This record gives sequence, C-alpha cells and structure tokens, in this order.
Amino acid sequence: MLKLENVSKYYYSSSNVTCALRKVNLEFKCGEFVAITGESGSGKTTLLNVISGLDSYEDGEIYYDDKPTSYFDSEDWEKYRKEEIAFIFQNYNLIDSYSVLENVMLSYTIDGVPRKKAIEKAKQILKQVGLDKDIHKKAIKLSGGQKQRLSIARALAKETNIIVADEPTGNLDVENGKSILELLKQVSKDKLVIVVTHNFAQIEPYITRKVRLHDGEVVVDEVVSNINEVEKNLKRKETKQNNWKKAFSFSMLNIISQPKKSFLLLLLMLVTSLSTFIFLGNFKANLDENRTKELDTGIFTNLDETRMLVRKNDSSIITDEILEEARVDRVTSVEKYDYITDINYYRPTDYKMKYGGGMVEDPSTGSFTFMDTSSILLTDQTHFMRSSYGLTMDDLKWGRLPENDFEMVVYSDDQSILDTTELVLFRNDRRWGDDTWYQYNVKIVGVLKKPTDQTYFSDNICEILELSRETIYIKIVYRIKNAYSHYYSRKEVMFNKVVVDPNVGTYDLSFPRGVKNQLIAPRVLIDKTNNTTLVIDSKSYNRGYKFNLETNLSVSDEALGVSQEVFDFIYSYYKDKKQFALFVEDYAYIDDVQKTLAENDFDSISCFKSSVTGYDVDKVINKYVNLGVSFIGLILINVFAVILGHTILKVKKNDYVIFKMIGMPNDLCKKINYLEVLGYGILASLITVIIVEIVKVTTTNKFILDILKYVKFYDYLIVLGIITITMLLLGRLFGKFLTNKIKVTVLKEE
Ligand code: ADP
Ligand code: MG
Repeated sequence: MLKLENVSKYYYSSSNVTCALRKVNLEFKCGEFVAITGESGSGKTTLLNVISGLDSYEDGEIYYDDKPTSYFDSEDWEKYRKEEIAFIFQNYNLIDSYSVLENVMLSYTIDGVPRKKAIEKAKQILKQVGLDKDIHKKAIKLSGGQKQRLSIARALAKETNIIVADEPTGNLDVENGKSILELLKQVSKDKLVIVVTHNFAQIEPYITRKVRLHDGEVVVDEVVSNINEVEKNLKRKETKQNNWKKAFSFSMLNIISQPKKSFLLLLLMLVTSLSTFIFLGNFKANLDENRTKELDTGIFTNLDETRMLVRKNDSSIITDEILEEARVDRVTSVEKYDYITDINYYRPTDYKMKYGGGMVEDPSTGSFTFMDTSSILLTDQTHFMRSSYGLTMDDLKWGRLPENDFEMVVYSDDQSILDTTELVLFRNDRRWGDDTWYQYNVKIVGVLKKPTDQTYFSDNICEILELSRETIYIKIVYRIKNAYSHYYSRKEVMFNKVVVDPNVGTYDLSFPRGVKNQLIAPRVLIDKTNNTTLVIDSKSYNRGYKFNLETNLSVSDEALGVSQEVFDFIYSYYKDKKQFALFVEDYAYIDDVQKTLAENDFDSISCFKSSVTGYDVDKVINKYVNLGVSFIGLILINVFAVILGHTILKVKKNDYVIFKMIGMPNDLCKKINYLEVLGYGILASLITVIIVEIVKVTTTNKFILDILKYVKFYDYLIVLGIITITMLLLGRLFGKFLTNKIKVTVLKEE
C-alpha cells in the first residue's frame, strides 16, 4: 500500500546541512502494526511526517497505491492528508476550546458528513476509547490520558487506511499506555498502523513488525509476527456538501466555543461600526452647504429649504389649471395658499396651558372679580400649515377630506380620533407680533395613510388666515350703555385685523362688568339693535365705507371677530390669488425646478435662498475641518479595526494549524474565517442600529441630535456596507496569513 524507495530528507540551515533520512527503503501493507524505534535524533518523527505528507522529501520516491507522490502539488497533499492519513500527535493537538464531542466531530464535518450521523458515529467511537461519559467536557479540562484517548478517537473518526502515531504512550502511565496500545492493536486489523516509540519493551507484545532507525538509516527491519494480509478496503464517497455550508457550521462553532475571543472581536467591531456611523453622520451633516450660510430670519418664518413661492410672469390669477401646470419634475406638492406655509400651527400636543389668575378689585364698584391670567406655553414650534388642497381620498385611510369650515386631516393610528375636535392655535410671530394668535376649534374629519406630523387644514381656515396678511383698517362706531345710568355713549375703535369668529351671534349680549372704560376689552360685544356703523378704510377702498351690520360683531384683543358673511364681504377684493407655494423633493433640485418653471412662464423664488445673506467664513472653515476629520476618522477607525482584528485572530493560529494537519483544505480554512468575521460585522451593525434607534428617542445631546437629523435609513445600509468591506479586508488579510504563514510543518518540532 505504501512504499518508500531511497527516500532522503535534508534539513538546511545557514551553516550546515543535516541529513535526517538516508535512502530509506520500506514497504508497508494493510493490517501491519509497525513499531519504529531508534535513539533520539535518529529521524523517527521525520519519517512519520514524510509518510503523512506533513513534510516534504528531497530524494527518492514514495508510492501510494503504486502511484508516485513526487508530483503531488499542495492540493494533492491536502487531499492525501485528508483522506488517507490519521495522525496521533505526541502533544495531542486538540482544539482546546471545543468539547470532546466537537473534537471528534471535526473530522466528520471536514468530510461533510451530515450532523446527525456525525454525532452518532462520534459517540460510538468515544465509547470505544472510554470517553463516552465526558463528551461535553472541554478538551482543555481533560487529563493527559484522556487527551491521548481523544486524539486517538479523532484519528479513528477519519476512517483512513493509515494511522500514524508519534509516541502515543509517551505521556501516559503504564496502565493507560497499555489500554491505548490495545486499542491501536484492535484497529490495526484492517489498517496500517505505524507507531513511533522509544519504549520498545512496552509495545513489543502488540506489533507485527519492528523498524529501527539510526542516524537516518534503517538498520533493523524485521517481521515479529505474521499478519493476515487484508486489501485496502475503504472507498471514499465524494461528499456533496459544499465548502460554504461546512464553513458556516465551523464558524458558528468557533464563535460559540470561544466566548471571550468572540466577545472581544464583537466589541471591536461594535466600536468600529458605531464610530463609522458617527463619522458618517457628521460627514453628511457638514456636507450640507446650508450650514455655512447666514440666514436673515426676518423675511420668512418657515425656512424649509424645499419651499418655493411661485407666480405667473404676467401676474395672472391662479386657477387650478395653473397649479397643475406648476407640478413639474421633482415637485412633490403644490400649495394653493402660499402665505399659510409661513404660519405655525399648534395642536394640543404642541402647547400647554398654564393656568393662573386671582381676584382683582374693580375701583368703580369696589367689588372683586376674578382676573384670568392663564397663558399658553408653546412647546413645539416646528409645524407649519398646509391646506388639504391637492389631497385625494386615496391619501386617507379613514374619514373624508375637509368640506366644511373648520375641519382638518391628520395622521394617527387610532381611528377613534375621527370626528373629535381640538383647539388649534395659529401664529406668525414675525407678521402678527408674538402675542397674537388665532384659535379655532377644528374637527378631525379624515386620517391619513402615510405617517406624518403634517396637518392639512380646510380651505376655509387657510383662506381666513391667508387674508389676514392684508392690513385693513376698520373703524367701528358704537354706543355703550352705562350699567347704572342707562346712558349711551358713542365710541369708536380701530382694528387692522379681521377674523372670522364662528361664535358671533351666540355670545351673551349683556355687558360684562368692568369693561366700561376699556375700548379694547378682552371681548367687547356690540348689540345689533344699536345703531352701529362699520367703517372700512384701506388702500383699496380708499374711503370710508358705511356698512349696516346685520350680524353681531365680537372683538377679541386687537382683532375684530366677524361672521363669515361679513368677512367675505370685507375681503372680497383680495380673494383673487396671484401667488402660490410648492415643495420640491430636495434642496439640491431647487435650481432645476426654477429653470423648468421659467420655461413655463413662471416666476419663482426659493424662500430659503432669499433668506440667505452670505457665507459665514468661520462656518465654512469649520465645515471643511469637520469633513476632513470625519473622513479620515472613518478610514482610520476601519484600518485600525483590520489591524487589531488581525492581531486578535492570530490567537487562533494554532487552531488553524491543527485544522490543516488533520486535513482541512486551505480553502475551507479561509471560508471559515471569512464567515466568522462577517458574522461579527453583521451582528455589530445590527446592534449599532438598535443603539442608534434607542439613542434617537432618549438623547438630548445636541451634537448627536444634529447628526441624527441627517441620517436616513439608507445610511444604516452604508454603515453595513463599510463594515462588510472592513470585514472582507480583515478576512483577506488573515486568509493570506493562513495560506502563507501557516504551514502544517510548523508544529512538527514541538
Ligand atoms: P527523532 O524523532 O528520532 O528524535 P527527528 O526526526 O526529530 O528525530 O530528527 C532527525 C534529525 O533531523 C535530527 O538530527 C534533527 O536535529 C534534525 N531535524 C529535525 N527537524 C529539523 C528541522 N526542522 N530543521 C533542522 N533540522 C531538523
Ligand atoms: Mg521525535
């Protein structure tokens, strides 16, 4: 079966050449139990290594199955080691972190034996060597005798024709040594077993043949007992399982069986992916040129960068067709009421009522009345109005679109919100002053499908608030009835704000106490039966206009609240719109949209750009410094991860040497390693996503919040991509190390 013909082996060093084997001629048959003896340094280990393909030879020829091996390339040797040789090492070469069972399974997994079958077979062999009670013990916890048995079990599991053993009883007491030799004797019936020993007396009763080496030469070769020659019996079945599948089970096993190393690597990758995320976020945030601009916030309240104001070149009145015409490429939505996109709205979640007040003396009567000093605290100033113009039933999951006066559409996942009414406040600090707001009870009539925090209001509300931008001077002449003397005095009051008050006509018409000297009381009510004259004076009307009121008027602070009919009458001149707003996909497309609009005879401005007054030099410098730091940081942290990861992986070097010695192909080693590091990378990226999502809702750190603003879902994929590339680099680097630096002969001298 195995024939050595004039095999010589030299070791070269810088100063001299050692001849470890000298023209060795030996022929082995199946069924033999051969003992190789000789003094230390005589070449026994070298002979075993050469026979088992762990070392090369220079001269002569080894025939296996009558085929010469001198033409084998490294892959052929890999295959030879894997399929023909089972090696029992003097120093065991077990995978310490694996359990007894896993160590034996190793051979089967390399062969691609299905897991269930492999476990069954491994248990059987472990029973044979007497380790069946300790199958889940880690190899490192075993005694010397147990380790030697395990290393024999692993060799037996390979089901090869040749078993070679280097001093298998060297570290054992007499009893243990005996039982090991008996075991080997048993299996040698249908195999070739070659055992190196310097304790010939111990092995003598078991062997069939004795070979003695001296100074690299065979000096004794004698048959001790006859053997029943058997044919080489094992025909290998080609395994179907592919290497990736095998690699996957190995990498899982490695990750689980070495928790400390795995945790260290995972931690490293987690730090890397979190830092990558932060650097990426900071890079993106600084890429935004808006950050370097100085803004004049006096023009627009809403500095939404995607908002544009549009009108026709010839100032034509806006019709639905014109609005449709403006819906060019990259426009996400058209807003008929442009002015409202600058008005903040506050739903109950955006404000808090602060209740206060106390008893105040009325000097004229000496009695006390309650003065309400309740105030409103605005908590969320980020919402700007939109009208329901442009929405369709398709946008709703429940309810309908606004049809009546004070109605709105919102997003919610709770259907019971339908048909409820909220008190909504409207403010535009810059135009109206910060102590003026409009407030209406608005009914939720529809619920949007797509999650958003944008509320869409009825045309009616939008129109009321839009028209309020026009300053119309209104003088009301009325008479006040003195509560005590029944004397009516003529009074005048001026307003420049007129709003619709849905409560007009429902107020109690009697005078509240304590208002007689206040022209602008919290609420002055005018009796329609009195002869009241409304004087409208504005640029357009240009002269006093007398209007006999048929409806009640109410006055709230500085605004005049009127019924819808009066409102429509007052503003009839302003109702024709010449301007509207639209929103584009991204600030980056503003210029394109502006160009397309110009081709269609539209005149447009970007609200954001017209608020820009220039670049802030400090901010520009800061931007580039930040960009550079983020970019370099991102690269460095990943390079660092590769280097540190490589160092940590090198701790596993011995495991891979052992894998290779028992016949694992290089390709499989590399695949195991790739999958292992990719596993850490993907897991780390997932944990990063979870951490970021948690931080998103809990942090108050301004730097982090700022970064998170710029982070979109696809950035998670970018981080995953970067980490994957880093892991592939690490896998490649360590793969090269496995191929080039790890030779199976490395451990030979240990
Ligand atoms: P044994 O196992 O019988 O003690 P070895 O096979 O280990 O003997 O060694 C045979 C000879 O080859 C010795 O002289 C030893 O010094 C030499 N030798 C073994 N391995 C190497 C090596 N890697 N490099 C140089 N010389 C070696
Ligand atoms: Mg030796």
